[in-house]
Amino acid sequence: MIYLDNAATTRVYPEVIEEMSKIYSVDFFNPSSTYSCALNVKRLVENSRLTIAKALSCKPGEVFFTSSATESNNWALNSGFKNKKGNMVVSSGEHACVYECAKNLKNKGFDVRFVNLDGNGLTDAESLINAVDENTCMVSVIHASNETGALNDIADLSRSVKSKNKKTLFHSDGVQAFLKTDNNVSRLGVDLYSISGHKVGAPKGIGALYISEQAKLRPFIFGGGQESGMRSGTENVAGIVGFGYAAEKFKTQFNIEKAQSNRRLLINELKKIPDTIILSENAPSNNSIVAFSAIGTKAEIIQTMCADEGVIIGRGSACAGRHSGNRVLSQMGLSQKIIDGALRIGLLPVTTEEEIITATKVIADNIEKLRGNRVG
Ligand code: PLP
Repeated sequence: MIYLDNAATTRVYPEVIEEMSKIYSVDFFNPSSTYSCALNVKRLVENSRLTIAKALSCKPGEVFFTSSATESNNWALNSGFKNKKGNMVVSSGEHACVYECAKNLKNKGFDVRFVNLDGNGLTDAESLINAVDENTCMVSVIHASNETGALNDIADLSRSVKSKNKKTLFHSDGVQAFLKTDNNVSRLGVDLYSISGHKVGAPKGIGALYISEQAKLRPFIFGGGQESGMRSGTENVAGIVGFGYAAEKFKTQFNIEKAQSNRRLLINELKKIPDTIILSENAPSNNSIVAFSAIGTKAEIIQTMCADEGVIIGRGSACAGRHSGNRVLSQMGLSQKIIDGALRIGLLPVTTEEEIITATKVIADNIEKLRGNRVG
C-alpha cells in the first residue's frame, strides 16, 4: 500500500508505540501521586512538555496538553471574548474546529468577523487588517491550510494586527505547519498556537495549546488542577509521551530541501494529467500537502478506484469528507467542477520519489479510465 493521506492522519512510529506501551504496563502510575514511581511518570510528562516547548521555542510552562487540536482551538476561541463589546476576526480558511466554533459564538450574539481568502487560499491581509479595530479581542488565522497546504505569513499578519491594536491576541492553528516550517512562536508573533500529535507520527487523541505567559487565558476544564490548573483531568500520559517521542523523530526526519523537491516532483507528475490543476500552486506551502483537481471528474470515485489499487489519497479535510461541498475551496472562488474533482495528497518526510511516481501513475490511469468510462 502507498499511503499518501498524511494530512488526515499518520501511521504511529513503531518506537512511539513501544514507548507508549511501557506507560500502559510499567509506568502506569498517576503522575499526580507522590510516591517515587509516580514521580517518575510525572518526569516523563514534563520531558515531553520540554520537547514540545523546544519545537515551538517557548517555555515548557507555556505548553498545555489537550485531547486534540480540536480541543486546543475550542479553548483558544472560547476564551477569546473578554467582554460582550469585543469582537473576533477569523479567516474563512479555517479548519472546521475553528470555523464552527467561531460560528457558534456568532450565533450566540458575539461580534465575529470572517475574512475572505484570495484565489491562492491565503487569508487576504488587507481585509484582515481592515476588520481589526480597537475592540478586537482575538484574531485567528490558520498557519498552513489543511485543504491545500497554503502557508499564511503569520509573522507579517500578526505584526500588522498588533500595530493596529496591541491588545489583540493572535491565535493560529498550527496543526498542518507543525515541524514542517518555522514554528518559533516568538518569530511568528502568536499568543496562542494549536498543534496535534497524529499528524506527526503520534497517536490520535493528543494535542497541545501554546499559551504565551502574557495571554492569561482562563482555565478550560476545572477539576484536580492538572496542567497548572488550566486543563484538569488525569493526564493522557501515554499520549503525551508518544507526542514527545514522535515530535523528536519527525523533526529529525524532516528535511526542507527534500520536502520541496518531493512536492515539485508530485506537482510535475500531476500536471502531466490532462485537464488537471494544482490548487494554491503559487502560494508558499507547507511542502507536505498538494491539492489538485481532475476537472470534471468526481473526486470520491477517483479516490475509491485508487484505494482499490492500494494507493490511498485524501479528499479535502477528513472531517469534512463525509459532508457535501467544500467551504474553503468555494471561498477561494473555485468553480464547482474544480471542487468536485479536488483531491489532496499528504506527504511525509520519508515519502520516496518512487512512491510518488507509482502513485501518480495509478491516479492518472484511473482519471483516464473514469473520463473515458473505461473499465479494467
Ligand atoms: N486543525 C487542522 C488544520 C487540522 O488539519 C486538523 C485535523 O485534520 C485539526 C485542526 C483537528 O485536529 P485533531 O484531529 O487533533 O482534533
